Amino acid sequence: MDDVVIVGGGIIGTATAYFMAKEGRKVKVIERDPTYKTASFPLSLGGFRRQFFQTENILLGKFAREFIFQIPELLKTEKNPKPTASMVTNGYLLMFGPEHAEEQYKALENHKACEAGTKNIKGSELKKFFPYINNDGIETATFTDNQSEGWIDPFMFHGALKSKAMELGAEFVKGEVKTLSEIKAKTIISAAGCWTKELLEDIPVEPQKHTVFRVKCPKHIPEMPLTGDLTTGVYWRPEGKEYLAGSPKSVFDAKDLEPAWDDFEELVWPALAHRIPAMEELKLTGGWAGYYDCNRLDNNAVVGKHPKFDNVYLATGFTGRGLMQAPGIGRALTELITTGAYQSIDISNMAVERVLGKKARPEPYVL
Ligand SMILES: Cc1cc2nc3c(=O)[nH]c(=O)nc-3n(C[C@H](O)[C@H](O)[C@H](O)COP(=O)(O)OP(=O)(O)OC[C@H]3O[C@@H](n4cnc5c(N)ncnc54)[C@H](O)[C@@H]3O)c2cc1C
Repeated sequence: MDDVVIVGGGIIGTATAYFMAKEGRKVKVIERDPTYKTASFPLSLGGFRRQFFQTENILLGKFAREFIFQIPELLKTEKNPKPTASMVTNGYLLMFGPEHAEEQYKALENHKACEAGTKNIKGSELKKFFPYINNDGIETATFTDNQSEGWIDPFMFHGALKSKAMELGAEFVKGEVKTLSEIKAKTIISAAGCWTKELLEDIPVEPQKHTVFRVKCPKHIPEMPLTGDLTTGVYWRPEGKEYLAGSPKSVFDAKDLEPAWDDFEELVWPALAHRIPAMEELKLTGGWAGYYDCNRLDNNAVVGKHPKFDNVYLATGFTGRGLMQAPGIGRALTELITTGAYQSIDISNMAVERVLGKKARPEPYVL
């Protein structure tokens, strides 16, 4: 009988392994593809932010920042004494049209209650702060400029967490779990990402394909934040001397991870050129697609104990924010399992019972 078995060695499984091992638990992580070719985390944009609607998501975003800043200290190992996740702290800028303004003003009250430190401006003031942006159709915008948001390299983050978890005694093994009943362990944690339904069929989380393009623009603006234009759903950020830009179109039941190349000319380029006139001149240099672990009920995470089992916990449904939420979720699950209750951030609203009872609690700020 094992002590703790985690199914899925992606970012959620690995962060949970780290926190559980830190508490002295004997952890085994079973991962079917240690190259992580189709796993979500290496295909993500690496963004961490606190600009959400739901309180739990704002607080998890704040903890992400705290954890990421401490990577060199928390995740150093004998083999890797100076771990890094190549953090860039350009902040986030989210822009809203009149149709989303009321909701955004409510979100700002939640930001305030959580001391998120976000700044809100009228669309008409955008050019004062971001002179390269065309504010046409923007009613209101929220941003940070205090290093509290930005992005990291997802693969380096995962590697640092994994090395530290292993140093703390966690074991990572290659294998495919066909059913949870084949595992004999005191505690089982399903961290199977968008494939969770294969193990727990009552969890409404499914793979949702998203395409990201890499583009080159003669005018480079390295200080640009990760910018989301909620009037079109297009989002982008600098990547070295180029930019990454995400398509607003997503697909369920995709047969493969071939990028939706047509989205570039049809949706992404026109939206970019309209919002940032300097991006009229763009060259497409690459792209990829990856799966969101999308919770079809409400775009919100599902975390906690599964009520139909004595010893099964799960964490999934992060719908575009699992990378940044991994430290907070790993810590929260560890608290729940080792003490019986959440101690730091109360994420009871993410409980499995919510989705089984179809009580939707939507998070609208999905990029
Ligand atoms: C294009 C794109 C952009 C994104 N941008 C961001 C962003 O900016 N910020 C952010 O926070 N998030 C972002 N995300 C979302 C984020 O990547 C995911 O929410 C997160 O990676 C989910 O982590 P996970 O560990 O649950 O899943 P995964 O990373 O997919 O890991 C799950 C692992 O479980 C394994 N597995 C599954 N079933 C089994 C089984 N039966 N047996 C053994 N192993 C199994 C899989 O092989 C996989 O390695 C983005 C995602 C995409 C696709």
